[in-house]
Amino acid sequence: MLIVPEREIANLMTRTAAFDAVEQVFAAMAAGDAYNFPVVREAIGHEDALYGFKGGFDQAGLTLGLKAGGYWPNNLEKRGLINHQSTVFLFDPDTGKPTAMVGGNLLTALRTAAASSVSIKHLARPDAKVIGMIGAGHQSTFQLRAALEQRNFEKVIGWNYHPDMLPNLEKVAAEAGLPFEAVALDQMGHDADVIISITSAFAPSLMDAHVSSGTHIACMGTDTKGKQELDPALLARAKVFTDEVAQSISIGEAQHAIAAGLIAQSDVRQLGAVINGTDPGRTTADDITIFDGTGVGLQDLAVAASVVELAVAQGVAIDVDF
Ligand code: NAD
Repeated sequence: MLIVPEREIANLMTRTAAFDAVEQVFAAMAAGDAYNFPVVREAIGHEDALYGFKGGFDQAGLTLGLKAGGYWPNNLEKRGLINHQSTVFLFDPDTGKPTAMVGGNLLTALRTAAASSVSIKHLARPDAKVIGMIGAGHQSTFQLRAALEQRNFEKVIGWNYHPDMLPNLEKVAAEAGLPFEAVALDQMGHDADVIISITSAFAPSLMDAHVSSGTHIACMGTDTKGKQELDPALLARAKVFTDEVAQSISIGEAQHAIAAGLIAQSDVRQLGAVINGTDPGRTTADDITIFDGTGVGLQDLAVAASVVELAVAQGVAIDVDF
């Protein structure tokens, strides 16, 4: 069995490798070649931790396994460790034997950024120039860096519930040589061609009235029942795509528009079908497109399999007799 420790991931994994792995697995899911297992997520009654498993099998890529981990809210203060902790385990689909154990913390940020980036590639207008960011926390900088590679963006605008965090976004814009402006949400909706929302909010920030036609919105923060970032009326006006429909309507952003009776399950389409060319995706420059990125286990397995290959090629995978 191979071990790729968390400390090696930053040197090994590239945004391109993460993008390719996630694009391929979304396509495989839509083609019926890959499926996610039901998610387990438990409050364990110890350290206020949430712990669980996300797994799946990709028959096209022959990737089988799970990500185990969760959220330990006291880690940083008590132990100087990051609060999100996860590890990916891969298995040989022919024998069931474990093949790899891979640090999953950085990979989670990279695969989440790759997902919104894949949505921008396939759904945003080709002439998109202004990118808007809602959220300026841990994930947001990964999101912005990956998104900037998808179009010839000329400006970054941002809004955050805690404005003191906006310099996190400004720094990434500066790295890319782009101007940054902090804006109100109505200006964001008016000016941005692409918006990424990545907050832990439980109430909508971006309202239907804010958003101009032609915008692509990657809604990435809502991954749990009750969380919410967008006005449900916006989903009714938009073409809605997702990684996995079952998750989108239960724990993703679409849960609210479905509950309000504004859209039906059949209105939520798989991004993978657009990648495969079986769904036309955006059909006019005026369409508003939304990607409801809920985060699926197969994304984790895909990037973990990719990083194992890179680790073997670069001689840093630890081989243990298991
Ligand atoms: P973080 O704690 O670092 O940042 C949280 C962000 O949300 C900050 O910008 C904060 O200002 C903002 N925020 C907090 N309360 C808010 C409110 N009431 N209204 C509006 N904004 C508010 O978290 P993070 O690691 O950046 O994660 C952000 C979200 O993304 C979380 O909900 C997390 O669960 C989710 N996430 C989703 C995926 C996925 O695959 N879709 C993957 C990883 C994380």
